[in-house]
Amino acid sequence: MSRFLSKRLSGLVPYVPGEQPQNRQYIKLNTNESPFPPSPKALEALKNEGERLNLYPDPEGKELISAIANRYCVPADMVFLGNGSDEILAFCFMAFCDQNIGVCYPDISYGFYKVYKDLCCLDGKEIPLQKDFSINPSDYFAKNRTIFIANPNAPTGMTLSTAEIEGILKSNPNNMVVIDEAYVDFGGESVIPLTLKYNNLIVVCTFSKSRNLAGARLGFSVASPALTADLNTIKFSFNPYNINRLTLATGKAAMDDEEYFKACTNTIIENREYTTTALKELGFLVLPSKTNFLFAKSDRIGGKKLYLKLKEKGILVRHFGNDRIKDFVRITIGQKTDMDALLSAIKQLLEEAK
Ligand SMILES: *Cc1c(COP(=O)(O)O)cnc(C)c1O
Repeated sequence: MSRFLSKRLSGLVPYVPGEQPQNRQYIKLNTNESPFPPSPKALEALKNEGERLNLYPDPEGKELISAIANRYCVPADMVFLGNGSDEILAFCFMAFCDQNIGVCYPDISYGFYKVYKDLCCLDGKEIPLQKDFSINPSDYFAKNRTIFIANPNAPTGMTLSTAEIEGILKSNPNNMVVIDEAYVDFGGESVIPLTLKYNNLIVVCTFSKSRNLAGARLGFSVASPALTADLNTIKFSFNPYNINRLTLATGKAAMDDEEYFKACTNTIIENREYTTTALKELGFLVLPSKTNFLFAKSDRIGGKKLYLKLKEKGILVRHFGNDRIKDFVRITIGQKTDMDALLSAIKQLLEEAK
């Protein structure tokens, strides 16, 4: 740390992304990317856009916004684009939180919530998940704070129903509720329709997981026109060209290719169910997942050890040091062959651990 860093940031602990090894080839099941390439139509759009890179992109992203608005049956003035959904989450912390109100989120959830809370110097309250790692909706009633919930939650993979989220919205009429739906396309229930009814709801989504575009950095949100205008105020005060030309074109083609999207997400869901059954047969506890990952533990091998041993065998999964979940590993669902390689490596390790 230099002596010039602002005092208010001296304690900031940044987010630690999952490993992105650039040397060895791993079977990469650690950062919840899609194992499939982007839609062929998205790749075609990407190729055609290259020759216009001398020009700034549309700062309003109109064409992409209208594709998203059509797909989700909402007016275009309710859709906002971000450089990854992470940027939209950061904008929400800037726009909809105040020192005297503060924020709350589950104790076990997406690690960025705490980082943004600290970056914005806000008071934060972590609300413990229940013993079975589920979220108890009534723990979020009348909180008088801005509420952040990932649904499905990460890294547990567990979901709240639309009715449960509606309960949270109703009991917090004077506070914002941000629902992070990064994983909703793998079997969860989106609350985007509720944005037409509740003016205190923002739903944040990403192209990184279910639309195979993690490297393009693209997210979007759906919320009332007034909330969306607030997000635009932040964006146009920060970086008006936050989405580059290549990503705008690629994202639009990906959003329009419903058939490819369905094929990819359905395959992930099949592979997830297959892997869940196989891990349970090996004695694992596997939390019920509606995402593209599994959160699982074995009482025959610790989480850290399993992570390290799999890495030796060329398979990357994610382990979190946090006491409550240190026995678990988070496994991204890949192609069937990836999952078979993982399962046979685990079988071998369990044999050795005997
Ligand atoms: C992956 C993820 C994001 C961020 O996605 P980007 O759009 O790639 O920034 C947001 N929230 C959760 C819960 C995630 O797992």
